[in-house]
Amino acid sequence: MVDQLVRATAADGGIRAVGVITTRLTEEARQRHNLSYVATAALGRSMSSGLLLASSMKQEGSRVNIHVKGGGPLGGILADAGLDGTVRGYVDNPEIELPPNSKGKLDVGGAVGDRGYLYVVRDVGYGHPYSSTVELVSGEIGDDVAHYLVTSEQTPSALLVGVFVGAEGVTAAGGILIQVLPKAATDEALVELLESRVAGLAGFTPLLQEGKTLPEIFEQLLGDMNLFIFPEVQDLRFHCACSFDRVLGALKMLGEDELQDMIEKDDGAEATCHFCGRVYQASSDELTQLIADLRTESV
Ligand code: ZN
Repeated sequence: MVDQLVRATAADGGIRAVGVITTRLTEEARQRHNLSYVATAALGRSMSSGLLLASSMKQEGSRVNIHVKGGGPLGGILADAGLDGTVRGYVDNPEIELPPNSKGKLDVGGAVGDRGYLYVVRDVGYGHPYSSTVELVSGEIGDDVAHYLVTSEQTPSALLVGVFVGAEGVTAAGGILIQVLPKAATDEALVELLESRVAGLAGFTPLLQEGKTLPEIFEQLLGDMNLFIFPEVQDLRFHCACSFDRVLGALKMLGEDELQDMIEKDDGAEATCHFCGRVYQASSDELTQLIADLRTESV
């Protein structure tokens, strides 16, 4: 099944639901960054969460950045997701592997750590991005993003994200977000019912492994609540906006002395994009041109 995002509503518009399947893009991230099992799960959950959050934005070009810093051995995680269905991301220490946790699952919480913060930045593409910070609950990502939605955006939300990764790579990844909108948020019984239904699921990836589609998962959770599934299906993909021009721009910022040094010592420069792992090579001639540009600009 291709990576996709499907939206639905229920309870006469009082409930908003979004689901994503991110199996292929999580596998692409795993291969690009040589991620360990636990790093694949942590980054995959973060990228799915980013796509779920970005889906509620209205302005074309909007993006959501999720930055997790929990003090664990994995270091920080950064996921950058767009309303357009593109996502990219990385972890600081992709090689870290931990033994399974007490439930026999990948120990994402142990790798990420729970002594730190989740930073969410919503950027509509112009002006000042809106950012907000919450303390981590468990470092398992799903709990932390749900906590952010409830405390920072004051929207009762149930969020479930998961990644299944084995020797053959990522075989299932994705998530679901169900939110009770302001018109229905005062209905505590409804909020509790939804929370208990989502909590009653064994996880998101087992549903995918059973062969369930996103509409079937919505049906299972909200089928008796006047469910409406939007027919439009949005494609999702791993995509990084980096380019050689941007790399040259960043090199230029280093200034003439540093550039001259690179020409003399290394006969050029090599730069790797954190987000996608792409390696860019700038030749001595290109660096010389940057110095000439700097001199022209300073005249
Ligand atoms: Zn890149």
